[in-house]
Amino acid sequence: MLTNFAEIKKEKDEKCAELGRKPEDVTLIAVSKTVGLDEVAVAISQGAIDFGENRPEELCRKAQAFPDANWHFIGNIQSRQIKNIVPHAALIHSLSKIDHAKKIDRTAGEIGKVQKVLIEVNVSGEESKSGVSKEELPAFLEEMKELSNVEVCGLMTMAPIEDEAHADLPSADEVFKRAHDLLEATKSHAGENFRELSAGMTNDWPDGIKNGSTFIRVGRAIFDPKLF
Ligand SMILES: *Cc1c(COP(=O)(O)O)cnc(C)c1O
Repeated sequence: MLTNFAEIKKEKDEKCAELGRKPEDVTLIAVSKTVGLDEVAVAISQGAIDFGENRPEELCRKAQAFPDANWHFIGNIQSRQIKNIVPHAALIHSLSKIDHAKKIDRTAGEIGKVQKVLIEVNVSGEESKSGVSKEELPAFLEEMKELSNVEVCGLMTMAPIEDEAHADLPSADEVFKRAHDLLEATKSHAGENFRELSAGMTNDWPDGIKNGSTFIRVGRAIFDPKLF
C-alpha cells in the first residue's frame, strides 16, 4: 500500500534544477488509474495534489472521495461519458475531436463551468495513435474559438513505445520536442492561456521536462511496487 510519490516528486524537482526549469512550472500528476482510494490517500499524505484517471467512473469515484485534489482526465473520450467527466475534471488532456469539444462545451455550460482542455496532438507519425495532426491543428483551434465554455490551455502528446516493433519511430525526446515547437508556433493565434504541455510518463518524463513540459503524468513509478 506504499506509494513512491515523495521520491518521484523529489526526482522531478532535481531534474528541473538540472535542466534550468523552475520546479513549480512542472506539475507532477500521479496517475492513479491502477490503484484504489487507500493509495490515493497515501499519495496525498506525501504531498500529491494532482491525480490522473483514464476512466470516467474512476474519475467520479475518486474525485468525490478527494474533492480537494485536482483531477485530470487523461483517457480516451467517449461521447456518452462526457457528462460524467466534465463535473469532475480540472483539466481534460485528451481532446482530439471537435464533436467532443462541442459536447464538452454544452455540458460545461449546463453546470456553469468553463472546462479547461488540452488538445492531444499526434506528432510521432504513428497511424494507430489518436490525436490532431500538426496540419489539422489551426482549423481545430479556429473551431474551438466558437465554444465559450471551453478554454484551450495547450497540448498533450504521447511518445511511441520504445521497442523493436517501433524502431522506425522517433524517440520520446524528438516527439516531445516536436510537440513543444508546435505549442510555440501556435501560441500567437491561440488564446493567451495557451501555454501548457502535457508530455512525459514513467519511461520518459525527464525528456518531457527537457522539452518544456508543464505537466508530467506518472503512474507506475509512483504506484507499482515492482518499480520501487
Ligand atoms: C497510464 C497513463 C499514464 C501513466 O503511465 P505510466 O507509464 O504508468 O507512468 C500517462 N498518460 C496516460 C494517457 C496514461 O493512460
